[in-house]
Amino acid sequence: MKVYLDNSATTAVDSRVLKEMLPYFDRIYGNPSSLHAFGREALKAVDEARKTIADCLNAKPSEIYITSGGTESDNWALKGAVRASKNKVKHIITSKIEHPAILETCRELEKDGVRVTYVGVDKDGRVSVEEIKNAVTDDTVLISIMFANNEMGAIQPIAEIGAFAREEGILFHTDAVQAIDSQEIDVDKLNLDMLSLSAHKFHGPKGIGLLYVRSGVKIDRLIAGGHQERAKRGGTTDTPLIVGMAKAMEISKAERAENNLRIARLRDRLIDRALAEIPYCYLNGGREHRLPNNANLSFGFIEGESILFTLDLEGIAVSSGSACSSGSLEPSHVILALGTPVELAHSSIRFSLGRETTEEEIDYTVEVLKKTVERLRAISPLFNMEKGTGSYV
Ligand code: PLP
Repeated sequence: MKVYLDNSATTAVDSRVLKEMLPYFDRIYGNPSSLHAFGREALKAVDEARKTIADCLNAKPSEIYITSGGTESDNWALKGAVRASKNKVKHIITSKIEHPAILETCRELEKDGVRVTYVGVDKDGRVSVEEIKNAVTDDTVLISIMFANNEMGAIQPIAEIGAFAREEGILFHTDAVQAIDSQEIDVDKLNLDMLSLSAHKFHGPKGIGLLYVRSGVKIDRLIAGGHQERAKRGGTTDTPLIVGMAKAMEISKAERAENNLRIARLRDRLIDRALAEIPYCYLNGGREHRLPNNANLSFGFIEGESILFTLDLEGIAVSSGSACSSGSLEPSHVILALGTPVELAHSSIRFSLGRETTEEEIDYTVEVLKKTVERLRAISPLFNMEKGTGSYV
């Protein structure tokens, strides 16, 4: 059996999306910036797609800037806002659990003298609005807090942070890359000034995303070049990918409620069975404010990588919380931020369900997981030392 439980890494392109994109590769291939009929036909498709996207977010088409994906959008939001700010000292507030697209951008900005405050999270993985309020100074240019975390699925109090930022006159950006498929996003209701999205996380194509920028908000451009995207982002407009992103967003929105219900029920089945049937198994993050498709579990006494590779041999695709950097396994910064002990952070596995996930697949996964954990513990010196004492955590 082949089971794909890594939908937070990327999703399959929906067949309806692919069908919509295909004519724009070889039939309607004109450059949307060209003035002739070939170009005009492509431009019409791009304009319609931009309108569909804007409608889905309750934004205006002129507020949607096409990018190459979430990483570019995050870089642009932060660098663009800082560079456009007239403040002498520039300060950003973000969280410790952001995606590297935000955290690495902040590190670069720090090298340029920007001050960054990284707020923490509670054991459920949520930021405190109070902590954000307390971090604000006269120099604060921007607050950037992700909508939902990519590793343990915690959904943040975005509307509340947005309302506060608006009151204070501080720009507010959210990286909603992991949220868009399951959460309603209305830029007005949430008081957003900027929003990053990436199409491949909601069954659209890879290599395309967007940055929403509220009209009136001034940010410098990141990619210099031609006059595309109202002279804010150079590069030939990619008609098929834009058409695909719009179709994927439309489908996601229309089918969201039904998908959420079904996927959350399967996620709960996975979590409940794993916690009940596997000793020393722990859920990372809380249950209440959690993406419907995310289950992140730690398995005491064993390495996440060993579990991942063993599951892979059995046809099950998951992802582990540790990232292999320069030969050493670093535990996930997100799981550590929850207050999880280092050993348990090393053993975390993310299961991210999708539209195609079935109950049979979940039950198969739990059965394989039980056997895998038992086998790996049998050869784990740590487990054999501690077994039965219950003193590990
Ligand atoms: N932000 C979050 C929360 C993500 O999960 C990801 C991708 O995993 C990104 C940003 C980057 O998106 P992309 O890979 O499309 O550049």
